[in-house]
Amino acid sequence: MSFLFQNKNSRTFKPRKKIPEGTHQHDLMEHAAATLGSGNLRLAVQLPEGEDLNEWVAVNTVDFFNQINMLYGTITEYCTAAKCKVMSAGPKYEYHWADGTNIKKPIKCPAPKYIDYLMTWVQDQLDDESVFPSTIGTPFPKNFMSIAKTILKRLFRVYAHIYHQHFSDVMSLKEEAHLNTSFKHFIYFVQEFGLVERKELAPLQDLIDKLVDNDKEKARAQR
Ligand code: ZN
Repeated sequence: MSFLFQNKNSRTFKPRKKIPEGTHQHDLMEHAAATLGSGNLRLAVQLPEGEDLNEWVAVNTVDFFNQINMLYGTITEYCTAAKCKVMSAGPKYEYHWADGTNIKKPIKCPAPKYIDYLMTWVQDQLDDESVFPSTIGTPFPKNFMSIAKTILKRLFRVYAHIYHQHFSDVMSLKEEAHLNTSFKHFIYFVQEFGLVERKELAPLQDLIDKLVDNDKEKARAQR
């Protein structure tokens, strides 16, 4: 998982979210890292036998936050208010920020500001013990899955912005393999549990089809 992304260029945008050692969630995270290493993503994202779906989604959501945090952290010098005047994902998609609580009326702002709002908002959710309980026996809230869906829907936009507006920057840093691995893992995960609506994924639909098709071809070739 995230250990794949530690290299000379990596630096995080926000502090890394840690899952405490010795907890069940930490064990789950290690299990996920081990199965990911097997190379079969479809299998790696599946709910391990006997595990709780909320917990599995929670652990993976933290991991995606950390991955995106690092991927975006490596390109912050390219994503400036002057270059990215709006939060876009190609010419057809533009996002305005609202969190539904503190900011209700969507505001149009430069991409770095939008992403700062977005990552801070996600960080606040992950740090909220009543939403993401880290101690054993503390139940997840009833609306946990809907909060997780909102987090993943918003995190997707950072991938979409990076792919559409900064892919050449990513290439110049030789980070494209990390970006693709991370994004593919994200897509397989959200597809497995239906966590992000198809229309939300539209800005990267062509890429998604390509990544998934490539895997199908590989599987066919191995048969
Ligand atoms: Zn940008």
